[in-house]
Amino acid sequence: MIRIHRTPEPPTLGPTRTERLTAARRARSKGCKLEFEGYGEVKENLFEMQHRKCCYCEKLEEQAKYRDVEHYRPKANYWWLAWTWENLLFACFECNREHKRDQFPLVDESACLTAEQAPPGNEQPLVLDPSDSNLDPLAEIEYRRDKVQGKERWVPYGRTLRGTRTIEVCGLDRPALLTRYSDHVNHVVRPKLEPLFRAEERGDTRAVVDAWSRAKRGLLHPAREFRALSHDVLLVLVPPSVRQRYHLSLDPT
Ligand SMILES: [Zn+2]
Repeated sequence: MIRIHRTPEPPTLGPTRTERLTAARRARSKGCKLEFEGYGEVKENLFEMQHRKCCYCEKLEEQAKYRDVEHYRPKANYWWLAWTWENLLFACFECNREHKRDQFPLVDESACLTAEQAPPGNEQPLVLDPSDSNLDPLAEIEYRRDKVQGKERWVPYGRTLRGTRTIEVCGLDRPALLTRYSDHVNHVVRPKLEPLFRAEERGDTRAVVDAWSRAKRGLLHPAREFRALSHDVLLVLVPPSVRQRYHLSLDPT
């Protein structure tokens, strides 16, 4: 997971929110089921804001239309936030429907918002909001090289309780993703580091520094898939001794 820089609310969402909330309050007063619709246009806004990637696993998606608008605070329990821009994200099918679903664990469940209360109130969520400008997912979740059934795997671990619970709730260590992470490291990250290691063998400082810059640009651009994974893999595959010798650093993401 990587930090998402939230863009301003699209102008169409305000009128939709007013209209949908009026209908939702009416439905609740009659004991009817709430209709959660009206996301057609904002889905594209979210898709572009997130560089066409899932907000949780950073998997690239071809198109927005077959995927989901994710409600950070689930709409089933926080219906009054169902059209609030800051509560909306774009997520892949697997993270949203197969894993997170309506889960939203809190440090203290009794502090849960009451109906129509604005967040955060006294809530301390245990799921990270990647669009929260006050937190850095890289400081909460770290990818480590591990062995799973005899194979090298890059596995996410929580650096904090929030990080650990986010991995569990969103299924960020599910087998299909572990395979995708391995493929990414072997077919995308390692080839980008080969020029650096060759230059290092020759002791060519300038070429090492250039290769590091190119690798960073190629792997850590906001539009790149699995950027958080690439960030941590760079720190593992290029050991501290090499980074110190050539003054190689990673810019803040
Ligand atoms: Zn996902």
